Amino acid sequence: MPMPPCPDCTSERTVKNGHIHTGKQRYLCRNCGRQFVENPTNKVIDKLTRELIDRLLLERLSMAGIARAVQVSEIMSPAKRPRHPLKLRFGPKKGAADGAM
Ligand SMILES: [Zn+2]
Repeated sequence: MPMPPCPDCTSERTVKNGHIHTGKQRYLCRNCGRQFVENPTNKVIDKLTRELIDRLLLERLSMAGIARAVQVSEIMSPAKRPRHPLKLRFGPKKGAADGAM
């Protein structure tokens, strides 16, 4: 199997460099030192899915439940999403949506 080229410098002087937590092969670029994973699965969530996730969050579903429903994993990652997306998106009106359930 040929080594994938480096996504940064496109050099093909890449070597296997262990695995990431999901078990995927990780590579290291000998040219620029960049570490990368071929065909990363953490693809950007498309806009529609994001909007759906936001609506589901409004329904007070759990992040894990939403992730299962829309079949993404990124919203589990605190680095990718704000810690409190609802507060950030809808301002400080705390409790305004409460009591409806
Ligand atoms: Zn490189």
